[in-house]
Amino acid sequence: MTATQDPAQTPTPARAHAIPSYLDPNNIGPYEIFLEQVERVTPYLGKLAFWVETLKRPKRILVVDIPVHLDDGSIAHFEGYRVQHNTSRGPAKGGVRFHQDVTLSEVMALSAWMTIKNAAVNLPYGGGKGGIRLDPRQYSTSELERITRRYTSEIGLIIGPDKDIPAPDVNTGPQTMAWMMDTYSMNVGRTATGVVTGKPVSLGGSLGRADATGRGVFVTGAEAMQNLGMPLEGARIAIQGFGNVGEAAARIFFEHGAKIVAIQDVTGTIHSERGIDPGAALAHLRATGRITDFPGTEEITRDDFWGVDCDVMIPAALEKQITLANADRIRAKLIVEGANGPTIPAADDLLAEKGITVVPDVLANAGGVTVSYFEWVQDFSSFFWTEDEINNRLDRIMRDAFRSLWAVKEQHGVTLRTAVYIVACTRVLEARALRGLYP
Ligand code: GLU
Repeated sequence: MTATQDPAQTPTPARAHAIPSYLDPNNIGPYEIFLEQVERVTPYLGKLAFWVETLKRPKRILVVDIPVHLDDGSIAHFEGYRVQHNTSRGPAKGGVRFHQDVTLSEVMALSAWMTIKNAAVNLPYGGGKGGIRLDPRQYSTSELERITRRYTSEIGLIIGPDKDIPAPDVNTGPQTMAWMMDTYSMNVGRTATGVVTGKPVSLGGSLGRADATGRGVFVTGAEAMQNLGMPLEGARIAIQGFGNVGEAAARIFFEHGAKIVAIQDVTGTIHSERGIDPGAALAHLRATGRITDFPGTEEITRDDFWGVDCDVMIPAALEKQITLANADRIRAKLIVEGANGPTIPAADDLLAEKGITVVPDVLANAGGVTVSYFEWVQDFSSFFWTEDEINNRLDRIMRDAFRSLWAVKEQHGVTLRTAVYIVACTRVLEARALRGLYP
């Protein structure tokens, strides 16, 4: 505060200070979870805590209007975002989400979690995220193409292979990335494959990218099970979300002898004590458009999913799923967060009190961005690796990260989430302090 400022007019509490005016202080939204997580880690940051305020504010936010002709000839406007939370360790990196509930606060939180995630597995990236507020099920493929292309053009001001590299997230995939790559390339006048990752393999994408997030969930989950003395063979797993992350995680756990006892997706929840074959469940979902009515399973309520008798629970859908309303009912010994931000901090405390181990999102689901990094490196060198090379490198990075972060958890006597935040925030703030402030 300068001598000319009136103390009565200046909000001094740390939290008030951290909340930017473009968020509603009475309803901060998902970004509040991130702010709480940063507060929890601050006492462990030593001298670097001097810089911690920089983590609470995204570096750059772009909000864009996306006007598009719909198939019926009318014009619709969509709200689009790209947030670059931090670029201290390298270009911003993170996915683009299409969802009707996307808000600025959510994209801010997701971008901040990318900063932590990328630092946790030591990728040379900062953190970014994008989103469009729309329900993609309501639009045709050609409408989605026009929406994606206009969005890409609008955020083209700040993205680029060495600036900010988008990727798929909820409701986006290889086709979305192909349109983004093409649009950006048309605008800059050359084919720039490195501007996005998660592209189709025939367009500079990487082998292994599609399963990478689910594979990382498996590798970190299996490591945690080993540390907790839980056998993989016959372990009962409940999975929320059966998309890119949940389906691959279910399949890989199943291939390693685990038993999938419950699956929940947007269409409903199925349960079977005898176990569900995820491949057959996927075929059923594709054929009928819903997970329910799968032979050999019973349908249970959405809420009863949380009370299912299981050893491992994998939330692999959206944020704020594990709350004070259901954390008490969870019977798993281990939770592996395939989704970003599925557990609110108060529920995290309750799980810790109950002795439930949580492999946090910023570690558990880092497999996706790790293979995105491989894709970006392959695009730069125009030299492509085999699937075995990719999977072996991915497994090693995830396993080594897990083991060193578990050691930090033991050393400080904290949860694995706090341990990951200690290591990741230290890496980001060390870079910040070394670079210093400009000017
Ligand atoms: N959307 C994914 C995530 O949340 C992947 C991001 C990326 O590959 O850049 O980690």
